[in-house]
Amino acid sequence: MTTKPAQAPATTTPPTLGTPVGDLLCQRNSFARTLRTKVVAVTRPAPAPVVNGKSGGKKEKGKPAVVEQHEPVLHVVLEDTVLFPEGGGQPADRGTLTLKNGKQVPVIDVQRQGLTAVHMIPAAEVDGAIAVGDGVVATVDWARRWDATQQHSGQHLLSALAESVYGWRTASWALGTDSVWNSVEFAPDLPHSQPVTLDRLDVLEDMVADHIAAGLSVTVHDGASSTAPDRTRGIAKTLPQDLQELGHDAFTMRTVVIGATPRVPTASSLPTNVEIKKPVDVSLCCGTSVANTAQLQTVAIKPSIAKIRGTNSRVFFAFGERVRTQLTRPGLKRDAAMGALVSGAPAELVDKVSGVMEAAKADRRLVNALTAELTAELAKRLVPAVAAAAVKTGPTAGFVHYHRAATSLDFLVTLANTFKNLDPAPANPVRFVLTGADDKVGLVVVVGPAEDVPRVGDAIRAAVPDVKGGGGKGKAGTIVLWQGRCANGGAALVAGVHTLGVPSVE
Ligand SMILES: [Zn+2]
Repeated sequence: MTTKPAQAPATTTPPTLGTPVGDLLCQRNSFARTLRTKVVAVTRPAPAPVVNGKSGGKKEKGKPAVVEQHEPVLHVVLEDTVLFPEGGGQPADRGTLTLKNGKQVPVIDVQRQGLTAVHMIPAAEVDGAIAVGDGVVATVDWARRWDATQQHSGQHLLSALAESVYGWRTASWALGTDSVWNSVEFAPDLPHSQPVTLDRLDVLEDMVADHIAAGLSVTVHDGASSTAPDRTRGIAKTLPQDLQELGHDAFTMRTVVIGATPRVPTASSLPTNVEIKKPVDVSLCCGTSVANTAQLQTVAIKPSIAKIRGTNSRVFFAFGERVRTQLTRPGLKRDAAMGALVSGAPAELVDKVSGVMEAAKADRRLVNALTAELTAELAKRLVPAVAAAAVKTGPTAGFVHYHRAATSLDFLVTLANTFKNLDPAPANPVRFVLTGADDKVGLVVVVGPAEDVPRVGDAIRAAVPDVKGGGGKGKAGTIVLWQGRCANGGAALVAGVHTLGVPSVE
């Protein structure tokens, strides 16, 4: 008889406080919105460094979550909670705690530490009015949660159909929080895998929509339950390292089943493309789920495929209310606004806008040709005037002023460069202050030797306070440009330049 080896020493994972993650009320019942419960622990850790300066920043893979704290935050553990801690691709919930004294304080994040769900609450809001044993009411921000639930359950349905029909295995997925789009990474590495193409994405979207319309049940079984059918898919992501150390037995992994019992029981009342002989999806899961695929409302798959890791494809999708509010409605408004701009119906927009862009390109070519012709003529006429008109002393000595009423900075720069390129003798270079105005602002370009131009630029800035400008740097002996804009318009700029005693030429 051999002696049993001693139990492996405890890992660094902290002991679990309150109901363990995996068994939280939000995981047992995705529709519970509030819970009267008790405070199990309150700690006030030293503020962590701010990461990226925005809340809900990404944590590094395999590392504990870095919570951004601009101010001291309390870590509160409850007996149980309706607030989901970040995990399995689903973001952390937000919500409130109603304290014993009746004050409602915000929960700004919920993170898993081992199997403990930790609620983050600004210490200043609590003002000391929370203690272990206090009765409190936890309430989830339902709009945010419902959106996350729709994206999460939608991903189950999408991934299940993608794998069974096209052999696209889901390698990972991410719920979009800043963007309307969630992403999924498909790995076409199964025996029946077909290439990921835009045509197949259209078919996949149609199939997902049919399964939404079919109103299939979505049921959650705890890991040990014999009522859960065999899994149809693998686990998209391996368990986090600290959970692996705890062992699967210590952790309730739930199984989510889509389509075990269609709400509409007769095959004839299902959309013609949907035939339910066995569950559509049976997979391990820790997130929150809809009760019925009809609650997914609708689906959108972006018509684009991003190739990653050589073989895999990233595809973008969205489910539920956000499709209507963030895609459909803004899209229709954009179509209407664009349609008004180019006088076209939505179906004509691409042709109409292409036409406008072609015309703009042709106009640009014409403007460039005319500008080249005009600036060459102007240079021929104006360069000889410099020697005749220029004043010999002062900070602007040697410079003359040329003004052109309706113009653009591009035109003045082109004219300045024409002077620069025509410059016949570096010993006697061109020196111009060019001014003009577009619809809004006065424009100025100074062109001349690098030794002189910055000084003239400074003089203009001093004479006209609202001028912002810069440039004019270069090696001595080279011709450089200094550019500026005057918010007060062209007239103020010209008046300022005249106070510097720069003679004008025409
Ligand atoms: Zn899941």
